[in-house]
Amino acid sequence: MARGGTAVLVVDMLNDFVTGALRCDRGLAIVPNAARLLREARRSGVPVIFCNDAHVKGVDMEFKLWGEHAVAGTEGARVIDELELCPSDYVVPKRRYSGFFKTDLDLLLRELGVETVILAGLHTHLCVRHTAADAFCLGYRVIVASDATDSFTEADYISGLEYLKAVYGASLHTVDELCRMFAGEAGG
Ligand code: ZN
Repeated sequence: MARGGTAVLVVDMLNDFVTGALRCDRGLAIVPNAARLLREARRSGVPVIFCNDAHVKGVDMEFKLWGEHAVAGTEGARVIDELELCPSDYVVPKRRYSGFFKTDLDLLLRELGVETVILAGLHTHLCVRHTAADAFCLGYRVIVASDATDSFTEADYISGLEYLKAVYGASLHTVDELCRMFAGEAGG
């Protein structure tokens, strides 16, 4: 995992997904791990990219399924305070599940020389999975921070991880393991 070739993608760790309209207690539980992953990534010079729902009020088709959430410019669409953005972070707004769909994420990753993406955030079987799908199709190696992602239910989380492994060849690593990799590369 070359340091310059890796980025952390943080999916939908927004107020509405954690404590708001789509409140998810399991999402709240991964916040400390996600915060540590971002802190160590930044410390090691690994880019942190937030892939954030930023829906258009009254328009976006996802609302039919999930109700209104993460409308661009609202408090619900803000990254949770615990993962506060740093000046070195990047933000990619999205209107669908995948961080790549009709966004400039691929362009940004190419400009940063990224070949491997580490996925974290919500939900393992929804937006993380769809982001992984596009990452895989575009030729990126996919790593999932297994204890910094979750779903509404244990079943969705487990089946989500299994799908990512089986279909996109994703490797699963804990935040502990990823932090050790960052530190090893920063040191070497
Ligand atoms: Zn959405």
